[in-house]
Amino acid sequence: MPNSISVKTGSRIEMVDITSSVQKEVSTAGIADGICVVYVPHTTAGVTINEGADPAVCTDILRKLNELVPPNDGYRHMEGNADSHIKTSLIGSSVMVIVENGRLVLGTWQKIFFCEFDGPRSRKVYVRVG
Ligand code: ZN
Repeated sequence: MPNSISVKTGSRIEMVDITSSVQKEVSTAGIADGICVVYVPHTTAGVTINEGADPAVCTDILRKLNELVPPNDGYRHMEGNADSHIKTSLIGSSVMVIVENGRLVLGTWQKIFFCEFDGPRSRKVYVRVG
């Protein structure tokens, strides 16, 4: 099993900043220069990189996703979370970040966000540094 981060989400749809947890995994891995893969092994949650300075950015992303993919829209999937699956595919299940001198190379405003689309739940995020 790859190293993993646990994320406990509090609402149905939510973005959680996991940058410091991912950095911790990078530091523990003891690899100075390489690549960090962050992978979400769920079908109704994803991961993305975007602005972490202004929380309104995440609010806007989630509001627009809900507008594009409303919770109820005559879906065929009977579990009642078809929108969560679609949002996950739009956002994606993994991101890759360059590691230099044991640090994630992110832009000034960039943060790594776990994206919950069918919470609240206990989730896992896999991290591999190499
Ligand atoms: Zn489902």
